[in-house]
Amino acid sequence: MNTELFIGGNYVAPSQGGRFADIEPATKNRLAMVAAADSADVDRAVAAAREAADRGPWPRMTAEQRGKILHRLADAIERRARALGTLEARDVGKPIAECINHDVARAARNLRFFAAQAEVWTQEAAFGAAKFLGADLRLVNLTARSPLGVGAIIIPWNSPLMLATWNLGPALAAGNTCVLKPSELAPLTCLALGELGNEAGLPPGVLNVISGIGEAGAALVAHPGVDGVAFTGGVATGRAVMASAAQSLKRVTLELGGKSPNLVFADADLQRSAAGVARSIFRSQGQSCVAGSRLLVERRIAEEFVAMVIEQARRLRIGDPLDETTDYGPLISAAHRERVDSFVKEAAREGAQILTGGSAPEQPQRGFFYLPTILDRVAPRSRAVCEEIFGPVLTVERFDDEDEAVAMANSTTYGLAAYLWTCNLERALRMADRIRTAMVWVNSFFLRDLRTPFGGARLSGLGRQGGRYSLEFWTEPRLLCMTYPEGTADG
Ligand code: NAD
Repeated sequence: MNTELFIGGNYVAPSQGGRFADIEPATKNRLAMVAAADSADVDRAVAAAREAADRGPWPRMTAEQRGKILHRLADAIERRARALGTLEARDVGKPIAECINHDVARAARNLRFFAAQAEVWTQEAAFGAAKFLGADLRLVNLTARSPLGVGAIIIPWNSPLMLATWNLGPALAAGNTCVLKPSELAPLTCLALGELGNEAGLPPGVLNVISGIGEAGAALVAHPGVDGVAFTGGVATGRAVMASAAQSLKRVTLELGGKSPNLVFADADLQRSAAGVARSIFRSQGQSCVAGSRLLVERRIAEEFVAMVIEQARRLRIGDPLDETTDYGPLISAAHRERVDSFVKEAAREGAQILTGGSAPEQPQRGFFYLPTILDRVAPRSRAVCEEIFGPVLTVERFDDEDEAVAMANSTTYGLAAYLWTCNLERALRMADRIRTAMVWVNSFFLRDLRTPFGGARLSGLGRQGGRYSLEFWTEPRLLCMTYPEGTADG
C-alpha cells in the first residue's frame, strides 16, 4: 500500500516522490510505503489551509453549521470503527479491543464534544462609562472571539486518532483550518481522516494531513502562514517547537512527557490499587504520557503490595494486537525497544533488582515485544527513576510518611499526573494539595470529564486542553467597543 498526502480535499503525491516504510510492530512486516512531505508539500498544505481560512466558508459558518459537519465526521468514524480500530492496532501495536473501545470511540466523542462546546460558548460583554472630547459617553464593550486562522497540529505515535481529534475537534469547531502532521511511526488512521472529512462535507482545505518525518513538522511550525501550533510529543521536540515558534510569536500549546507517580498508602484497598497501578503502567505497553511509571509505596505494606502488582503483570495476555483477548502488544519499534531495554540494563548494573520482565518474551517470536517489567531497589537519582522511559517499566520506591512521599513524588522535573491510592479522604486532599502535578487522580486512573483542564506542569507542558481551555487557545479574543452619549435623545 502506498499512501499519499491529503491537501485541499484531495490525496496527492509528495512533490519529490519521497516515501518511507511504515513497519507493523507486531510482525516487523512493512505495512505501507508512506508519503514523506518535504518543505514544498508543507507550503502546499499551508496554502490550502490559508485559502480555506481567508476565503472559504468555514470560519464564517455558525458554530451550529460547523457542528453538524463535525457530527457527520464522528458518524463516519463510528461507522468504520472496526476498520479504523484494526488499522490503528496494526500501525501502533495496541490491542484491538483498546483501539476500538477507547481510541476510536474517543475520536468520535472528541469531535461531538467540541462541536457542542463551541455552540454553547458565550462571549462576554461589559458596560461602562467614559468622557471623550468633552462628552459623557456610555460604553458597550464586547469580547468577540475570532478563529485564530491556520492551525498546525503535530502529534506522536502512541494514540494517533485520539490525539488528532482531541486537537482537531476544538480547532475546527472554533472555525480554524488545520494542517495535521502525524508521527512517521503511525500515520495511517490520521491519513484516513481526509477521506472521512470529505464524506462528512468538510470544505476543501479545512483539514489537510501531511505525513512525514520531524523535518516536515519543523517546516510547519516555522511556516509564516501558520497562526498557532498544538504540539504533542517529547520534551526535546517541544523545546525546539517553542523556540521556532518564538521567531514569529506564534501561539503554542505543548503536551509533553511524564514520570507520573502512583502513591499507595497502607489504608488503601490494596487489591483494587494493585489492579489500578498495573493498568496505569502496562496499558498500551506503558507508551502513554500519563503512564504511572513510579510506584511509591508505604514501607509497611511494600512487600505484600508489590507481590500483588507482579501478579497483575503476569496475568496480562501478551500477544497479537488483532486478537480481541490480547491485553498487551508490542512496542512501537526496534529502536524504542532497545531504548526501553537500555534503561532496564543500566538500572540493573546500578544494583536494581528485576522483579519481573526485563527482556523480550520468548513467545511471540516476531514483533517488538517487551515483557511488563518491575524494578525494585533502584538508585533514587538514577535515570530509570527520573526520566520518562515511555515503556512498560515500573520502578518501586518505599516511603515511611506523607512528607517523604511528597518529596519523592515531586523529585522529578515532570509535572503531568499523580495517582493517590488511599481510603482516607483527608489524606487524599492533603496530598493532592502538595503534589506538583497538573492532574491528580484519587483511586482511579485517567478518568475525566472532557471539560476539565488536561495538560502538564513544569517539563510536562505548557497550556491546557479540554472544554473552554482548548477553545480559548484556538481563538483570538478581540474587543469591540461601542459608545452612545449619556442622556436621552430629546435631552
Ligand atoms: P516526538 O517528540 O519524537 O515526536 C512527536 C511529533 O513531532 C512527531 O510527529 C514528529 O515527527 C514531530 N517532530 C519531530 N521533530 C520535530 C521538530 N523539530 N519540529 C516539529 N515537529 C517535530 O515524540 P514521540 O516519540 O512521537 O512521542 C512520545 C512522546 O510524546 C512522549 O514523551 C510522550 O509522553 C509524549 N506524549 C504526550 C502526551 C500528552 O498529552 N502530554 C500524549 C501522548 C504522548
